Amino acid sequence: MSKVLVLNASYEPLNLTSWRRAVILILKGKAEQLEYSEKLLYTELPLPTVIRLRYYVRVPYKEIPLTRRNILERDDHTCQYCAYRGDNLTLDHVVPRSRGGRETWDNLVAACVRCNVNKGNRTPEEAKMPLRSLPRRPYSSLHFEIARYVKSGRNQEWKKYAIGL
Ligand SMILES: [Zn+2]
Repeated sequence: MSKVLVLNASYEPLNLTSWRRAVILILKGKAEQLEYSEKLLYTELPLPTVIRLRYYVRVPYKEIPLTRRNILERDDHTCQYCAYRGDNLTLDHVVPRSRGGRETWDNLVAACVRCNVNKGNRTPEEAKMPLRSLPRRPYSSLHFEIARYVKSGRNQEWKKYAIGL
């Protein structure tokens, strides 16, 4: 069964939950239903896909770890120089390490072996290899997860509730 996106009272994404839990929150009056699927749970109750809490929940910021896997996922397993998509990807330092480039979200991108070798010890400008998109830190683990669902073609209605998708 598909997941339900829970929004805070402020409309910011809060977490993902099961439809069971979402329905309980709605029936208890703790949340309102914003989006629902075509499927009906009961005759009078469509299956929720996005709900919004009627009260505000304070959440501590959770940092998303900078890992090879997370960078490849952020870049959709696509070379950020030539758009090759596949498993055989490396991580490229946009500003090369030898020139002070750091291991950060905005300096690491997915690159195929060929592009990584071609670019060598140069910046994208010097190599005349423009980046397809500007690398940056994902907003949160939840945004990351929402993006994964949306990219896979599921839950398109979540898109308007997440920043930067
Ligand atoms: Zn490439």
